[in-house]
Amino acid sequence: MTIQAQILDLLLDLRKQTGMALVLITHDMGVVAETAERVAVLYAGQKVEEAPVGELFGDPHHPYTAALLASLPERATGRELPAIGGVVPGLFDRPNGCLFSPRCRFATERCTKVAPSRQGKAAGYALCHYPLVHGQPVEHPDPHAQATV
Ligand code: SF4
Repeated sequence: MTIQAQILDLLLDLRKQTGMALVLITHDMGVVAETAERVAVLYAGQKVEEAPVGELFGDPHHPYTAALLASLPERATGRELPAIGGVVPGLFDRPNGCLFSPRCRFATERCTKVAPSRQGKAAGYALCHYPLVHGQPVEHPDPHAQATV
């Protein structure tokens, strides 16, 4: 057992014994899958999706969440892991519209001009104009647009 796994076990035991809440901040989706009940995905300081862990892994609604999950080795289908091109914007070089638009495979002109409003619970409160449902962006102008997950 790795040190990381031992520490996580310890934290989960403590949570059970004391009844306390536990907030883990991590970029390791494996840790998320094994320990979390509820997940909030952050991008450039914004919460872009929030859902129970099973729902989030089973049907991610925000393109950033979908791209993160698609890059997990256990989900890869080709020889190379899919990567998310570009970099996270800083505080002083934020794009107009959706903050993820320079890196999003579904970005449209609307995305680069208009900041998306938050979707409802069924769409994981996704901050997106075209939230994904089973990998398909809803109401996207390109009917062939599809996520890789
Ligand atoms: S609003 Fe547009 S650019 Fe932003 S995540 Fe959704 S589809 Fe991508």
